Amino acid sequence: MDLAVKTHSLSKSFGDLLVIRELNIDIKRSERVAFLGPSGCGKTTLLRCLSGLLTDYSGEIQRRYSKAGFVFQEPRLIPWSSLYNNLTFVTQDEKKIQRSLELVELDAFGNHHPSKLSGGMQQRANLARALIVEPDIIFFDEPFQNLDLKSNIKLMEAVKRIQKQQKWTAVLVTHGIREAVVFAQRIFILSKKPSHIIKEIDMTQEKETDFFSTKTAEYEKMILEYYE
Ligand code: ADP
Ligand code: MG
Repeated sequence: MDLAVKTHSLSKSFGDLLVIRELNIDIKRSERVAFLGPSGCGKTTLLRCLSGLLTDYSGEIQRRYSKAGFVFQEPRLIPWSSLYNNLTFVTQDEKKIQRSLELVELDAFGNHHPSKLSGGMQQRANLARALIVEPDIIFFDEPFQNLDLKSNIKLMEAVKRIQKQQKWTAVLVTHGIREAVVFAQRIFILSKKPSHIIKEIDMTQEKETDFFSTKTAEYEKMILEYYE
């Protein structure tokens, strides 16, 4: 199997607080996976361990990728710089900047300041910034959460479209069930903390998981049963 990330018995505590308990996960190259779990269960912590932002965990993590991109919940754009200039902090290469703005359909907005962009556009700018480094994996921490439904769907579609084209590995953590169903080829349902996997769902055969499809609602109902 062509592996991107694999953990063996991954656990993570903050002092006495055990947050992640003995996780064994493998994520394949070019796969879109989602970790779904309630607020506070340790999703951000897991993402930070998987991506190597946190290193003081126990157990093992193999990382078989070279460049990682990150998309977090807050866009983290510098307010007094134009969108274009925000991206020059990542690269000076004009073509790369232009190309990534085109990918997220913001090429007409390069000279706008972040405050002039809608929340959805700011998140697409955030995605553009992650794409500039030409990553082979992108870690997403609830990037859709603060958006209205329409922007949420648009951002998700952009992420999926670009991922299918460029084939980087996508690792999403979220508490949005529908988001996970629409987005992922494999869903890991996490328990409350200390977090472990209570169910793995293979979505690769599902073709009809659009945001509003009956199939998606069925999955949502089924997954809800794993939460009390
Ligand atoms: P989620 O992203 O699922 O909401 P987090 O990973 O942010 O959850 O947090 C999981 C638990 O770990 C929470 O109880 C949180 O308070 C705790 N936690 C997270 N980061 C730290 C930290 N740096 N120091 C101490 N506790 C932390
Ligand atoms: Mg979080």
